[in-house]
Amino acid sequence: MNELLQAPFRLIGQRLVKLNLPTDPNDYFTAVARRMGYVGKVREPSIRRRVISQIATGLAAVRISAVSRITGPVKSDSKKIEADGMAVYSSRWASIIRFMEPPVVMGCFAATLGGELENLKGKVGLFDAYVLECLGAEVTETVGDKLESALSDQFLSQAMACSRRFSPGYCDWPLALGQKAVFEFLNPESIGITIMRTGTMVPEKSITAVMLGAGKLYYKTPCPICPKKDCPYRRESTGGNF
Ligand code: SF4
Repeated sequence: MNELLQAPFRLIGQRLVKLNLPTDPNDYFTAVARRMGYVGKVREPSIRRRVISQIATGLAAVRISAVSRITGPVKSDSKKIEADGMAVYSSRWASIIRFMEPPVVMGCFAATLGGELENLKGKVGLFDAYVLECLGAEVTETVGDKLESALSDQFLSQAMACSRRFSPGYCDWPLALGQKAVFEFLNPESIGITIMRTGTMVPEKSITAVMLGAGKLYYKTPCPICPKKDCPYRRESTGGNF
């Protein structure tokens, strides 16, 4: 069992949180198989055994680190959201600020699975490397969900509601510009993440995201008022009093 998947992580200037990720390779099998393109049950026992064995190998190589920081008060105009040390150039996300009640603040986090999983991919055959790639994507997404929920709990403990998370590259927030802003504000280099000029992170299985906290908010994402009707990433369809 990889104890590190269950270990607590220090969020900068804040409490320790326990991510409680599953440690049993079987718990990742369905999601990893789906990412690999299997539809329905994987019927061939030898494939199932091999995938689960690679998941176990991959999980043993995962070393999660995370940092977060909150800043405010938030100011916005039609093109951007700004707070002390951090700016988000997204007119879509800026459009929901006017539906929020003060205080409006911005939280930001970064997390990485470390570089060992990537190194492993270079040492195995194509099929096994693909399992590790899909596992990495699944664990990164799960860590993002857990940190979103940890930050949301933190806002809640201060009687604030918060938006869903959004990352550089989401909606109309340019990837390279967004990652530059996040890195200048949060210094994810402190947990071993660097960025290339394009905004791509190294290690690749890393995530950065921003969330907005407010006394009250009506939209958790801009999706309900976004004109991009054919967007494949659309989340909520309505607002509510949060
Ligand atoms: S519909 Fe798509 S582009 Fe529009 S706010 Fe939602 S995720 Fe962003």
